[in-house]
Amino acid sequence: RIIIITRQIMNQKVLTILCAAVMMLFFSVNSSAQEKSKDVTLYPGREAYSVKFFPTTFSDKAPKNVILLIGDGMGVSQLFAGLTANRGNLFIENCKYIGFSKTSSADRYVTDSAAGATALSTGTKTYNGAIGVGPDKKPIKTILEEASRQGKATGLVSTSSITHATPASFIAHQPSRSQEEDIAADFLKTDIDVFIGGGHDFFTKREDGRNLVHELIRKGYAVERELDRIENFKGEKLAGLTAPKGNGRVADRGNMLPVSTQTAIRVLQQNEKGFFLMVEGSFIDSGGHGNNTVQVIEEVLDFDQAVGKALEFAAANGETLVVVTADHETGGMAILDGSFETGMLKGGFTTGGHTGVMVPIFAYGPGASEFIGIMENTDIHAKIKKLLLEE
Ligand code: MG
Ligand code: ZN
Repeated sequence: RIIIITRQIMNQKVLTILCAAVMMLFFSVNSSAQEKSKDVTLYPGREAYSVKFFPTTFSDKAPKNVILLIGDGMGVSQLFAGLTANRGNLFIENCKYIGFSKTSSADRYVTDSAAGATALSTGTKTYNGAIGVGPDKKPIKTILEEASRQGKATGLVSTSSITHATPASFIAHQPSRSQEEDIAADFLKTDIDVFIGGGHDFFTKREDGRNLVHELIRKGYAVERELDRIENFKGEKLAGLTAPKGNGRVADRGNMLPVSTQTAIRVLQQNEKGFFLMVEGSFIDSGGHGNNTVQVIEEVLDFDQAVGKALEFAAANGETLVVVTADHETGGMAILDGSFETGMLKGGFTTGGHTGVMVPIFAYGPGASEFIGIMENTDIHAKIKKLLLEE
């Protein structure tokens, strides 16, 4: 009898412990799931920045300079999420000439960033993954290379590695976007004046043993890794490599993109013949891939402030065309709820990949009226080329 009673007590104890363990497991799983969903879909609203508005009448003459700003993965929902979070205004609203871009690539209805950027840089639709090459894998001269050949200054700015698909497609010619060491080597074959982004590793930790930073210095570039040294740079040839690969989230990298945009403009405008500059807000795309509303908004607001730097220069300069667009939409994002009073925004997503929907185009400055309507992404290249370059 004593043995049976002891067994019963033991069983009760085991049962109690088991129950407690299961409950603890349930609560910990549940709370981490709650934390996760709280993090990614709901932007609680943070401090807004003030937006300046600039004159919107422009010269009839063709622009001497073009600044093309690409929000990677920035569809209308991403943009409106940012606009709501900033209490109803963005710098981009200065652009009164608005159109839409059809983004399909040569081999897919839904493009990737390489084919998307190559369409913008060369005016040719190519296969997904292609960097500055056509469907036949042969190199095509980019708008940046052609501007350089006509004596204009040229520049690239990106929050990702400067060798990543979007900036790479303006300067390199490789059959695959994954060849980032080959893409880095392609920078040395060009006359680019300013490039600022991540990707230091692709210039220094290379399979072929070359140290491209040393080669850049021999070619006359100042190579800088710190943002304050980039911001205070005086000279004509600047290579800013601010991270080993991509730069981090906005919380880590700070105002790297607006500062780098402003610096690139300041350096490039020294050329009397004008300049071409491409600026990329790379990680709007990452926010879409991660179905992360908070990241999408942080990145759109950062990108918009870089657009603000470009517009401020264009408004004062009078000979500069600013074009803002995207390579494709990412995440199939929808706006489920929001508040212009608090900046709160609730996003929803339909995919972890890219989508085929057309993306917006915004233009400001001489030639801006060309960008009204629905057009192919390759038409954006044709219009910029016609306005900026001599035949
Ligand atoms: Mg990109
Ligand atoms: Zn993407």
